[in-house]
Amino acid sequence: MARPPKERMVEKLPPMSHYKPAGTPLCGLEEVVLTVDEMEAIRLIDIEQLDQSEAAKRMGVSTPTINRMANLAHQKIASALWQGCALRIEGGNFRLARHGKSGLRNFTCKTCNHRWTLPHGTGQRGHDLSCPACEAFTVSRDDEDNGKN
Ligand SMILES: [Zn+2]
Repeated sequence: MARPPKERMVEKLPPMSHYKPAGTPLCGLEEVVLTVDEMEAIRLIDIEQLDQSEAAKRMGVSTPTINRMANLAHQKIASALWQGCALRIEGGNFRLARHGKSGLRNFTCKTCNHRWTLPHGTGQRGHDLSCPACEAFTVSRDDEDNGKN
């Protein structure tokens, strides 16, 4: 039996979990599914522009692993775009990083129990946020009662 893969550290959840082509029916193929940890790999490498060894450290994986994840993510995104497929970001083997140092705030949606994080200093407060998953305004901050400080 294969050893279960190690959990990858994810600092931010993607703001949206589902994309589909505008104005056209979905392609006949199944949706392309990108995992949250693959998305984090390309966020660190393509958006934060970290080099692969630095990005690997942030996610707690080896450099070859993050290289593989980023390649796979690029391949999936490119094929979704070229085939006109919907793209869904979900699942994967990851754990959300909770570290006070970088000032991430944790939110929970009371409607659908979706959880996500936002960095401090974005000017957004719990009461004017809507849930990225279901768009309800029933969002609570849940980093005040974790008792870890
Ligand atoms: Zn929700």
